[in-house]
Amino acid sequence: MIVSKTDYVRSEARRNTTFDHHCHWPGCDKSVPPAMWGCKRHWFKLPLRLRNKIWATYRPGQEITKDPSAEYLAVAREVQDWIGENDRG
Ligand SMILES: [Zn+2]
Repeated sequence: MIVSKTDYVRSEARRNTTFDHHCHWPGCDKSVPPAMWGCKRHWFKLPLRLRNKIWATYRPGQEITKDPSAEYLAVAREVQDWIGENDRG
């Protein structure tokens, strides 16, 4: 069965409503489904090119198996660097 990443993340967000996972934005403690990088507000603060990179390297299920690819981890670091340089609250 081929499910698009978008559909996967949406269905996971609906199905999995008990989680202890927070937005990856530094200092944000908003709960978000594990299949998502962060809360909507912060996700859309990221530049499109970074969002595209996260999306491209994200593998459905990695949040369950805890084995994100090296590429995803590299992008996650890049995002944290970007936030450090650009965060204005
Ligand atoms: Zn957030």
